[in-house]
This record gives sequence, structure tokens and C-alpha cells, in this order.
Amino acid sequence: MDSQDSIADGAKTHNDIVVIGAGIIGLACALSLSRQGWRVLVLDKQEPGMGASYGNAGHMATEQVFPIADASILMRLPKMLMDPMGPLRLDWRHFPKALPWFTQLLWNLRPTPYQASVAGIRSLNEASLSAWRRLLGSVNGSHLLKKDGSFLIYEDARSQETIEALKSRMDAQQVAAECWQGGAVREIAPQLSKQIKGGLFFPETAHVVDPWEVIDVLAKAARANGVRFQQDEVLTGKVDDQGVSLRMANSSPIQADKVLVACGAHSAPLTTALTGTRVPLDTERGYHLMLPHEKERLPVAITSLA
Ligand SMILES: Cc1cc2nc3c(=O)[nH]c(=O)nc-3n(C[C@H](O)[C@H](O)[C@H](O)COP(=O)(O)OP(=O)(O)OC[C@H]3O[C@@H](n4cnc5c(N)ncnc54)[C@H](O)[C@@H]3O)c2cc1C
Repeated sequence: MDSQDSIADGAKTHNDIVVIGAGIIGLACALSLSRQGWRVLVLDKQEPGMGASYGNAGHMATEQVFPIADASILMRLPKMLMDPMGPLRLDWRHFPKALPWFTQLLWNLRPTPYQASVAGIRSLNEASLSAWRRLLGSVNGSHLLKKDGSFLIYEDARSQETIEALKSRMDAQQVAAECWQGGAVREIAPQLSKQIKGGLFFPETAHVVDPWEVIDVLAKAARANGVRFQQDEVLTGKVDDQGVSLRMANSSPIQADKVLVACGAHSAPLTTALTGTRVPLDTERGYHLMLPHEKERLPVAITSLA
């Protein structure tokens, strides 16, 4: 971003909508809004995509229709927390702060909210692949999306029961899932260990070949469509009948008619600061490592249940 030019620009030019956050969500929204004729300014304290959006597995997880508030996960929770090599670690110092979120999570385990969550996730997931195809197609990025399916594999024979139970639950939600033997999985991905006993194959899922390139094509298309970018941090602000006023870390306040908060993990406190509304959003931490020359190693997304 050219911060000096755009600082003057962002403060002076009339902004119909300010999008805070230039991750995958902010960029996709900014592009769509500009195509609908809105004058859009995107604010981000970093370069576009440098939050979670450039470093992720790129898996279009349309098979994941069950919410975190799922009794079957909670039953495995104590074991996961006790296992030093397990996938879950809770920073107990964070626990008091996260208590309202956990309370809401427990409340949502009841059958009615649980079914509503599954139905909501399903309807979003069912629409997502065709939406991505349309969006990437419109920015000459169709080659970035591949619909080759994905695997959930297991190495411990005792996990077979869990996999079969999961398949039954997937069947009940009309999510395409097939049980494969270890040998068949290795025919698709010969690099995998011979310890692999089998897995579930989800033929209807997709992945993007490079999350960073997705960011890049969206940001370029947004700029070409008149979206302006300014690199600065929004400290706080207010939303009232007059519109939106944002206090910035390094530049003059910015005014707009409307604001869209797309700050990923940082969205909740900023939304509360702007509107007084508390959003029940908490975060989990994830890390990624980009390895050079590894693009071709695995043909599809593969997750291990162990
Ligand atoms: C290791 C890892 C693997 C993942 N794998 C997958 C996967 O396979 N499939 C999948 O669907 N999802 C995956 N995810 C999740 C996915 O990456 C995120 O859900 C997604 O990128 C969030 O996008 P976003 O635009 O909401 O947020 P972000 O990309 O985090 O963007 C938010 C932006 O807001 C900016 N910002 C925040 N506060 C302010 C402020 N006050 N002022 C100005 N700017 C601000 C930040 O600088 C940032 O650029 C993974 C995440 C991780 C960490």
C-alpha cells in the first residue's frame, strides 16, 4: 500500500463504506461492494492478507458441518487436554475471560440450538463452492481452485470405529463420504506411511492451491475496480445516525456512511468499541509453515485422526 498518498485520500474522499481488515473476508466484501457501485475504502494495519488469510491450509471444508458445540467433541475433550501431544491446549490464564464463551457453548449443546447450528453451517457450506467458483472466475483465478476431494485418515486401528460412526453422521446430513482402506488411500497418496489403516474420503470438497495467490488476485481486482486501500490501524471509533467516525493510529480520523468489520480474530473488541454490541466470538491459535518446493507432495488435503 502507498500509505502517504492514501492517508490523504482516505481522510478527504467521501467513503460510502469503510472495510476494516484486508483479509480474505474484507477483500471479497470490498470487491463485491465496489461492483455494486459503493465507494469503498479498505483499512488494514498490515499489507492485504498478512493476517490469517495468506497462511492456511486452503481447504474448502464443506464436509465440516458439525459445530464445535458438539457433545461428541466434548466427551473427547479431557483426553485431548491431558495429552501433551494432543491437538488442543488451553491456556488456563485465558479461561476466566473465555468463560462466557464456554457457557454459551455448553448452552448450545441442547438439541434445538445444535440442530440449528448444523442446518446453518450446512446451508453456508452448500453455497460456498459455487460462490468461490464465481468469485475466482470473475478475477481470472479459476485455476486456483481444485475440487479433488480430501481425506481424514487414521493410523490406529482403534480409530476405525470413530471413522465409521462419523460416516453415519455424515450420511445423515447428506455429506458425501466414503470409507477407504489404507492401501487405496496410498494409491492416491503413495507418500503416506504404511501405518495408515484407512480413512474417510470426501469427494465433494475442494482446496485452493495457494492462499496467498487468492489474496493477490482479489486485492488486484478490488484496486482495479476503484477500491482504495490505506495502511493504518483503527484504534476505536463510533457509529451513530451521522455515520461512522474512526480514530486512526497514524492518520487523521476517517468518516464513512457505513463500516464493515472484517478483522478476523480481532473483530470482537473493535465491534464492541464501535457499536457497544458484544459479539460472542473467541479465537483459537494456529501456526503455519510454508515449505518451498512442496506444492506437489500431497495431491489433496489430508488430515489425520491418529
Ligand atoms: C494455520 C491455519 C490454518 C488454517 N486452515 C484453514 C483451512 O484449511 N480452511 C479454512 O477455511 N480456514 C483455515 N484457517 C482459517 C482461515 O485462515 C481464517 O478463518 C481466515 O483467513 C480469516 O480471514 P479474515 O479475513 O476474517 O481474517 P484475517 O485474514 O486475519 O484478516 C484480518 C485483518 O484485519 C486486520 N486488522 C485487525 N485489527 C485491525 C485494526 N484494529 N485496524 C486495522 N486492521 C486490523 C489484520 O491486520 C488482518 O490483516 C486456518 C487458519 C490458520 C491460522
